[in-house]
Amino acid sequence: MPHENSVKESGQGQGLAGLGALLLKCTKCGECRSVCPVFNELGEEKYVARGKLALVDALGAGELPPTDALREALEQCLLCLSCEARCGSGVPVSRIITEARAELARDLGRPLPKRMLYRLLASGRGMVNLAFRTGSLLQPFLFRRIPGTSGLKRRFPLPLVDRDLHVPRLALRPFRSREERFFPAPDSRDTVVFFTGCLTNFIHTQTAGSVVKVLNSLGISVIVPGDQACCGAPAHAGGDFGAAGNLARMNLKALNRGRAEGKKVVVPCASGGYMLKSVYSLLMQDDPVYGEMAADTAQRTFDISEYLVNHVGLGNISPHVKSHLSGPVTCHDPCHLNRGQGIREEPRALLKIVCDEFAEMEDPGTCCGSGGIYGITHRDTSKRILEKKIRSILDSGAGIVSTGCPGCIIQITGGLLQRGSMVEATHTIQLLARAMGLV
Ligand code: SF4
Ligand code: SF4
Repeated sequence: MPHENSVKESGQGQGLAGLGALLLKCTKCGECRSVCPVFNELGEEKYVARGKLALVDALGAGELPPTDALREALEQCLLCLSCEARCGSGVPVSRIITEARAELARDLGRPLPKRMLYRLLASGRGMVNLAFRTGSLLQPFLFRRIPGTSGLKRRFPLPLVDRDLHVPRLALRPFRSREERFFPAPDSRDTVVFFTGCLTNFIHTQTAGSVVKVLNSLGISVIVPGDQACCGAPAHAGGDFGAAGNLARMNLKALNRGRAEGKKVVVPCASGGYMLKSVYSLLMQDDPVYGEMAADTAQRTFDISEYLVNHVGLGNISPHVKSHLSGPVTCHDPCHLNRGQGIREEPRALLKIVCDEFAEMEDPGTCCGSGGIYGITHRDTSKRILEKKIRSILDSGAGIVSTGCPGCIIQITGGLLQRGSMVEATHTIQLLARAMGLV
């Protein structure tokens, strides 16, 4: 059974004492103020990286007591990595903030809903499947369909569900099954392992299907390990390194067992890919067995667009494109794909072979305000950040906004619906599958 903040088992979770040198890197230049979406909305120093680092420093030095007010300042962060990308001193802000959140959870405890969520996700496949299945069955009673869209709105007041929150429909059947699934390609020239992530498995099952269909059509066989679990991003963001570490071990085991061992791993989820590439090694750095497995797996993990462009090749994909998407298409860069994995060109390269016209929006890499569960816990600020993204999308004149993160799709779809817009938000692989005549 997972346990909270099992510090001894985790490279992250050493407490604030281990952060001294990292905090000292901050020269207090304030460069991060120009890029922080939360600071841009709220305008207070405590909400920008520099201010948050000063608070963590004071907490570590015992100059500030752990309080709910301090925790709230540190919760006001999307972990969007904008400040890290801008910071000339290389301060690992997201690592420091998650570490401080863990410290505050040790001192103050964790709010019950978050504790329950992290425990549920870390409990493994069976319980999570049951929870999603129950949710899927209850949805028609709790929510009503928005006519003409796939969105849902609540029927009655519900805890944590804002009146205008767009709630995606949960699939009746998840994409993954209990057993490993194998999708062989005729004349297979490569075999990859598919790490789905939760939202693709339970909500965007069509995206999961498109990953398999596109890869199979291109001569790539696909293994879907049955015992993979949540990537651990929500627990890690909340500083629950015990839960995140347990999930990392479950996934590393699933991705390195039997037929999957040593194969490239493809991921259609920006946060899932970021966890596998960057965070698992940090979480497992004190674990001799899993530390090595995490480092090795990170080298073999690719976002689906990255795998297609750099390993399959556009020249091999183009002949399979049967029809071009009409009208302009634009692209939103998810934080964990853009800054987290440095992937910007690959989705665009795919879009340019499937659409007639590509229309770049202004600042495609600014956060959409989703930030894991930030969009629910900090709804007002999230909505203000989203509003800017929606304006950029609408100003681009595109009829479709493509992205590589299921969380961003849900958030952006909500914003578009709120505006009464008919622009469609979807995954890049869905558009490729459509242009290849596979869906
Ligand atoms: S976090 Fe980086 S950008 Fe922000 S004040 Fe410190 S050194 Fe400057
Ligand atoms: S990670 Fe994003 S939201 Fe958090 S302090 Fe940095 S820029 Fe602001």
